Amino acid sequence: MKSSPANRSRDIERQAGYLQPEHCAPPPPRAHSAHDMWFIRDGCGIVCAVITWLLVLYAEFVVVFVMLLPARSLLYSFINGALFNSLAFLALASHLRAMCTDPGAVPKGNATKEFIESLQLKPGQVVYKCPKCCSIKPDRAHHCSVCKRCIKKMDHHCPWVNNCVGENNQKYFVLFTMYIALISLHALLMVAFHFVFCFEEDWAKCSSFSPPATVILLILLCFEALLFLIFTAVMFGTQVHSICNDETGIEQLKKEERRWAKRSKWMNMKVVFGHPFSMSWMSPFATPDHGKANLYQYVV
Ligand SMILES: [Zn+2]
Ligand SMILES: [Zn+2]
Repeated sequence: MKSSPANRSRDIERQAGYLQPEHCAPPPPRAHSAHDMWFIRDGCGIVCAVITWLLVLYAEFVVVFVMLLPARSLLYSFINGALFNSLAFLALASHLRAMCTDPGAVPKGNATKEFIESLQLKPGQVVYKCPKCCSIKPDRAHHCSVCKRCIKKMDHHCPWVNNCVGENNQKYFVLFTMYIALISLHALLMVAFHFVFCFEEDWAKCSSFSPPATVILLILLCFEALLFLIFTAVMFGTQVHSICNDETGIEQLKKEERRWAKRSKWMNMKVVFGHPFSMSWMSPFATPDHGKANLYQYVV
């Protein structure tokens, strides 16, 4: 058989008769249900996720206590405070949803003889088996060594959200990058205003902290916001581009051949964010309905 790049990238490729299901342990008695809490126990990922929260809370502290509360205009403080806090709340909610949503894990150990027989393969049909988690891989699924599972439409494993970005949580991940980019931009604008305002006024009236402490806190916030603005804006752009083209990060890296149907860019966005377009696209609390446009098959 001629080996194309797409075939080489697969872990194992056999005809149904050679799958050797006896090497796989039977699946756990209780299947993983969608309502179970999903959380990856990975030390590095947990540390990164906690750092993300601490950085957002630091920004929150500086914005509220160093810049907005001492500001003289109540209206300025109120509008900016409401906007910044709403965006920060949505960013943290998106982070939680991205972290605690099953990204699309394939049931572990389902490569059993009974399951393969139940697929009723025709002669010559091929199924893919993951040798690491003993599951039958649907098309476009990849094994993640951190999650120790095969993930449907896996894009990449992100330690900042301590989870894989895949079919079921990509919306939350995209929202997370978007809201972090927005609060970073907003914080930078407020720091710029604060500096302009405080150079004209007396420093002592401008902040309840001492001038050196104020400057250090603001410069640290500036540095943080600039770094995260660049990082998350690039990530957001890359994600939207790959959603529109319906090609995951892994598929782009491996230059996999397109084996799936081509849809319009707008349709591809709806597959990830839900159908039809509404304000719920922006909400980390609205679970998108992936069902209709996504017909995954076990057999290719
Ligand atoms: Zn696997
Ligand atoms: Zn993963």
